[in-house]
Amino acid sequence: MNRRQLLLALPSALLLSACGQTPEQLFTRRVHTFGSWVDLSLYGLEPGRAEVIAARLERELSFMNSAWHAWKPSLLEEVNAKLRTGQVFAAPDAILPLIRQCKSLYEASEGLFNPALGLLFRLWGFHGDKSWESRPLPEAAKIRELLTDPPGMDDVEIDGNRLRGHNARLSLDFGGFAKGYGLDRLAEILRQEGVTHALVSATSNLVALGTHGSRPWRIAIRHPRREGGVLAWLELADGECCSTSGDYERYFERDGRRYHHILDPRTGYPATGAQAVTLLHRDGAVADAASTALMVAGPRDFARIARRLGVSEALMVDADGRLLVSEGMRPRLHFPDGRPDVLSVAI
Ligand code: ADP
Ligand code: MG
Repeated sequence: MNRRQLLLALPSALLLSACGQTPEQLFTRRVHTFGSWVDLSLYGLEPGRAEVIAARLERELSFMNSAWHAWKPSLLEEVNAKLRTGQVFAAPDAILPLIRQCKSLYEASEGLFNPALGLLFRLWGFHGDKSWESRPLPEAAKIRELLTDPPGMDDVEIDGNRLRGHNARLSLDFGGFAKGYGLDRLAEILRQEGVTHALVSATSNLVALGTHGSRPWRIAIRHPRREGGVLAWLELADGECCSTSGDYERYFERDGRRYHHILDPRTGYPATGAQAVTLLHRDGAVADAASTALMVAGPRDFARIARRLGVSEALMVDADGRLLVSEGMRPRLHFPDGRPDVLSVAI
């Protein structure tokens, strides 16, 4: 089995625990979008109503996918082209709030979360279908060139609903943020529809509403190095979002080394400090951006960057496989193999 099949067989960093469910109470639907799978689980709804709601969520997902796509014809591509001209232009409503939030997350993460580096992400070629195939690295000179006067979110000026770019290499790519942001929108729709019990999972991000019947929604965090293995279980409270970023979801190997899709804006190369980060937050977009930023921060800057992003429940498996867990996260975790060695981190 090649890696692609393995990923299809095991698409999630967060696996749903299915124990104890009664089929007629749990409605599930799987949708392909954002380049991966989105799993909708709606609990306790009459089946006809669940179908109607699932169809509404699917329409919303398909709209978001077409608006925010970074490398196919999309609204975002038009915005990127206009940003590079340096001219003032009107921001589409579907994009402006994402840019606003990305600017504040860029600041809070000290630039480690930098969605303005779309040209760098594209240079590494993690977007295509063959992203896992071994290939030569991008030329060092090209990486250096992109990082000479590198674009940041502070190069995007917002004035009311008008935008202006201040760097000719600006290329917004919401790959580290859009799934979390999108889940927030889906949760909003579910609440509007009066749905109180649901779990929506987009492989590495998910949001929980209410409970799964008489017990909380329970999820597993995948072990970054044991294929199919569980690192820990945790239960989610109403309205909580969980995000995982890891070096095992999208990567290729070359000369015995792993090159993954989370890039360090300071070096232009894949981040080296951590194998995986999982965290909880009530805002799905913050959760998504924060797990990406903490992969770049690594163990040394874990606590400081988490604190600046308002994250208190987080864990990291560092590059040596050590498990760092924040004091807030520790009581939330249940480990399958008893009590592993854990380094406690005060955030
Ligand atoms: P996943 O997409 O597997 O959930 P992430 O949320 O961590 O993982 O997002 C990774 C994606 O984010 C990359 O494919 C790329 O598009 C983008 N990205 C990579 N490095 C950064 C970074 N330092 N800051 C912001 N976005 C990044
Ligand atoms: Mg992310």
